[in-house]
Amino acid sequence: MQRALYRAERPEVFEDIIGQKHIVKILQNQIRTDTVSQAYLFAGTHGTGKTSTARILAKAVNCTGGTDAPPCGSCENCEAIREGRFVDCIELDAASNNGVDDLRAIIEMVKYPPTIGKYKVYIIDEVHMLSTAAENAFLKTLEEPPEHAIFILATTDPQKVRQTIRSRCMQLNFKRVTEDELIEGMDRICAKRGISATRDALATIASRADGSVRDALSILEQCMAAGDKELTRAAVLEYTGAAGEDFFLALTGAVIDHDAGKALVYIDEIVKRGKDTRQILKDWLRHFRDLMIVKYVGKAERIIGASTENIDRLRAQAKGVDAVFIEKAIRLISEYINLGRYSERPRILLETAAVRLAAPQGSAAAGAAGTARGTDPPAAAAAAETKAASRGSVTPAGMKEPEDDTPAGEVLADMIASAPREQTGDPDGMWNLIVREMSASDRSFMSLVGRNSAAAGYDEGKLAVTVSPGKLSFAQDKEPEIQRIARELFGPDVYVSLHGGEIRKSAAPESNSGISEDETSRIINEDISVNEVMEDVEDLFGIKPVMEN
Ligand SMILES: [Zn+2]
Repeated sequence: MQRALYRAERPEVFEDIIGQKHIVKILQNQIRTDTVSQAYLFAGTHGTGKTSTARILAKAVNCTGGTDAPPCGSCENCEAIREGRFVDCIELDAASNNGVDDLRAIIEMVKYPPTIGKYKVYIIDEVHMLSTAAENAFLKTLEEPPEHAIFILATTDPQKVRQTIRSRCMQLNFKRVTEDELIEGMDRICAKRGISATRDALATIASRADGSVRDALSILEQCMAAGDKELTRAAVLEYTGAAGEDFFLALTGAVIDHDAGKALVYIDEIVKRGKDTRQILKDWLRHFRDLMIVKYVGKAERIIGASTENIDRLRAQAKGVDAVFIEKAIRLISEYINLGRYSERPRILLETAAVRLAAPQGSAAAGAAGTARGTDPPAAAAAAETKAASRGSVTPAGMKEPEDDTPAGEVLADMIASAPREQTGDPDGMWNLIVREMSASDRSFMSLVGRNSAAAGYDEGKLAVTVSPGKLSFAQDKEPEIQRIARELFGPDVYVSLHGGEIRKSAAPESNSGISEDETSRIINEDISVNEVMEDVEDLFGIKPVMEN
């Protein structure tokens, strides 16, 4: 059985690491000046190279190759570490061995000097999964580590690592890898394997990988499995089941021309070629997002992972369409993506979206609520404004959202309209948007988490959120989705850190229940109150339960 590309292509020396240049620089400098730390915390999302880097560091401190920039990757120690048979490099996966006994056994051995190497290196993966007892046992060792020991703790969730442990480590944050770095890395691997890949092809893979080397290489592997010696963008689109830019340019062109018939023919053709309609909806959303970016950003190549030729095509199309239409399309398509999660016939959704977008602006079909821009009765406009204001006025003036039934679309439009402000860190506004986006697909989220949480602060990509203790585990269950939405809304480096605590009710999103402070603290302290249960029922089923005394 062939090893997965991600494993087969694990970097062996610092130069091979894809991305993370800032971290490589720090570590190489420490090795050169003999100032390697005794404890590191490698933090970052999956597939960004934490474990690979830890092993390279283990090699570097034990390398006997005599090179100026260790590790050499080829001396006896380097090879033993690569093959996982180096007795002084001990790896532990806390996600599977989180018991105190496993760790205690390892810690027992820390005091003995290394057998072969210069340092004993302990790599503890997913360290936030250690049990409290295990953490306690470990903390003692970390307070006074023997000179010959180096601890490398890796985690996808540094906020869950106890502060007392974090404070004893040098924390290095592994960033999502940029598309350029992914392209460069994949290019190197392709060259090594005698495959020529166009930059376009690799850019398409990179844009799908969302900053993860592991994801990029697994898509690349999928494309290489066909055995082609040349990898083109068309081939990548074929293997990944995605439609090409040509299709989205044509489909968008048809709706801009109000030619619904032509749009439906294009959709029919692409579906017959076996493309996944849910994916097409998502990619179409991305196309409109790209159109908006080329409309406003001069050097769009930096933001959009597309070739110069494709950017020129996007730019030409963007010229012929106004921003209001793009915004409407983004809103409408995201609404249909949400609907698609539950639909067994996503093709109909794609077709309906196309027909609605192709309808002339101002017609009844143009808007979900049958309202058209500029023709709202004053009362409706005022209501929309009030609603916007009550949401913390994330909708700037002149970007009224009269439609009431498009929560996801609203969020996106708001996000796009106010992106610079959100980026500078308005924690309440950011958390509000995330809660609303979550609630669009999961009605219970608003009542269970939304009303029982508040943003606590925003700093360098970390949005800290306090959740009342009784709802914390529910929120944590939803964490992957929360993180995904946070990234979608605010960029790849933003993540949400959830922790339990008392909520200042006034700051909780959309808390307009009118209950008193006393009642609030009672609800928080008692965890689940009758009122809350009733609220949940109301939110989940849209009915108001009647209480019997
Ligand atoms: Zn070596």
